[in-house]
Amino acid sequence: MSLEDFNIKVCKRQAADEEKVLKIMTPGPVQVAENVRKSRSFITTNPDLDERFYDFYKETCDLFAKELHTKNNVYILDGEGILGLEAACASLTEQGDRVLVIDNGIFGKGFADFVSIYGGEPVLYTVDYHRPVDVNELEKFLDKDSNFKYATVVHSDTPSGVLNPVDKICPLLKSHGILTVVDSVTGMFADELYVDNSKIDIVCGGSQKALSAPPGLAFVAVSNDAMEAMEQRKTKISSFYANLLTFKTYYEDKWFPYTMPISCIYGLRTALDNIIVDTNHLYRHKRIAYAVRKALKAAGLDLYLEDGYASSVTVFNVPDGLKDSQILDKMRSEYNIMLAGCFDVLAGKVIRIGHMGNNANIADVSCTLDALGNVLNELGFKCMADMKEVFLNSIKE
Ligand SMILES: *Cc1c(COP(=O)(O)O)cnc(C)c1O
Repeated sequence: MSLEDFNIKVCKRQAADEEKVLKIMTPGPVQVAENVRKSRSFITTNPDLDERFYDFYKETCDLFAKELHTKNNVYILDGEGILGLEAACASLTEQGDRVLVIDNGIFGKGFADFVSIYGGEPVLYTVDYHRPVDVNELEKFLDKDSNFKYATVVHSDTPSGVLNPVDKICPLLKSHGILTVVDSVTGMFADELYVDNSKIDIVCGGSQKALSAPPGLAFVAVSNDAMEAMEQRKTKISSFYANLLTFKTYYEDKWFPYTMPISCIYGLRTALDNIIVDTNHLYRHKRIAYAVRKALKAAGLDLYLEDGYASSVTVFNVPDGLKDSQILDKMRSEYNIMLAGCFDVLAGKVIRIGHMGNNANIADVSCTLDALGNVLNELGFKCMADMKEVFLNSIKE
């Protein structure tokens, strides 16, 4: 095939993709703004050798730090959100270390795997998945046993949509001498996060949730205490790619442990800039989440959670007699809207509407609720209210 024919083929593929574009109202990845997509096509340099890229990378990391209200160093890692979680555990865990894994959700529990893969001993603190962690109960537990090197907790556990009070949990852990690792992949930029005030040692974020860039990047903010713990290890970190220490002097040395994905980072930076100029960002998330809950409840649907709703996602129980796939398939085939079911212990039980980041706008959410109402009615679940109408009225409250 000639190069010219090949280029035509690529353009046709793109045109076809644009025609069948779905509205992805899922809890990540979310819809990506045009300026973010375009940034990923900027002319690139050699990010290993061009010192200007080190400045750009550092400036982007510093902006993240500012938005997360922390003086800690931020590092952007070349991997999906999961890489940040694994890197935190890989870098801190030594053979036999006891690690407190706070488990009130699927991602919360999932940390136990990372801890044990790297030789640690995960101790699960498992509580009700329908509500946030109760800080007083956790305190009682810690009074009996607080011999942990670090603890893991999820800020907002996306499968259930529960929002944990990390601003209370992490200072409590820290007062017992326990380092804290927080998965805020969905939490940050959808709900408030004050990393320093919350005394969080390692906080993990991802590109494809509220930040609204495509999937592919993770970032972490690492405290001095966490860095020291890594440096004082008796044994080496059992990973190269997931070793956070290798980033410590990247800027001074002008050396990254691996070649940085420059185009992804250009996109990430634009996504971050979009949030910085959007001063109403968190308030809008709160309003939209509130109005979605009101609409679903008015229609007679049951929310999965009893308390502690994140602003990023709303999770409701699949109505009796229906299957999640019936609802999801109809939404997609008849309305071109993608919602998400769930996995693990929640597989088949709930439906999730992702209204974070670029999805957090009245037009997309109201048209999603309109479609959902029609789909449910057609499937035999008679909605007790017009969800779109309740949503639009509640948003004004
Ligand atoms: C999305 C998400 C992650 C990252 O998972 P990926 O599979 O890399 O997308 C981690 N934690 C939480 C709470 C998430 O919502």
